[in-house]
Amino acid sequence: YEELLTFQHQMQAVSHIAAGVAHELRNPLSVIKGFLQLSHLTCDFQKYYNTIISELNRMNIIIEDFLSVSRKKTNRKWQSPSSLIESLVELMKAECLLHSVELQVDFDKSFSICHINESMFKQVMLNLLRNAIEAFDEGASYKYLKVSSKEIGEYVHIELIDNGKGMPKDVLEQLGKPFFTTKEKGTGVGIPLCKKIVEDHGGQFQILSERDVGTKVILTFPLLV
Ligand code: ADP
Ligand code: MG
Repeated sequence: YEELLTFQHQMQAVSHIAAGVAHELRNPLSVIKGFLQLSHLTCDFQKYYNTIISELNRMNIIIEDFLSVSRKKTNRKWQSPSSLIESLVELMKAECLLHSVELQVDFDKSFSICHINESMFKQVMLNLLRNAIEAFDEGASYKYLKVSSKEIGEYVHIELIDNGKGMPKDVLEQLGKPFFTTKEKGTGVGIPLCKKIVEDHGGQFQILSERDVGTKVILTFPLLV
């Protein structure tokens, strides 16, 4: 009996995810189709090329995000989150530079060791970086993202603080629900994915935010004790 129930739950989860993926992929697909038809009608492919490519990229991101949700928890190694962040700094710097965001990094130089899947960790950081970059208003003058790590008790705390537009209460309340997004081109997959990855690692994922002030994301990873 129990096995049957588990199986049914799994099937429910699978069909829920499948429905979500289908829903999310349908939008870019219909945009691509429409633009291909337009370019055929007008014989002007050049004009629609960028939109088509960016919609294809979006589909790729959605698929990547979903694949990683279902990936197994293998490939974890005992390693220091600070050095993982360090290895991402160049990439993050480049992204920030491109969007006129000042990146401030401040990590604990101790050798705190946690059991981490490197590619998932990277995915969390890049998702949060992307969100921070997207959180600034068009004309914002001084934009920063502070990334820090420190040991507190039996956990490493990683914080990402941006001075973007922050979130009003109603957005904060919805945060973490799969597919919840306030962006025209958002997928609403980023935050639930980050939360799941961090929690799978035995850590906690928390977001504090104030409208017009900014957002602080706190991730914790259990230390080797
Ligand atoms: P997406 O980025 O595709 O919208 P996410 O799950 O990454 O999906 O984020 C969900 C929503 O949370 C975003 O649409 C945005 O409204 C809000 N959000 C996330 N991160 C931030 C941030 N750093 N600052 C302000 N709002 C944020
Ligand atoms: Mg996002």
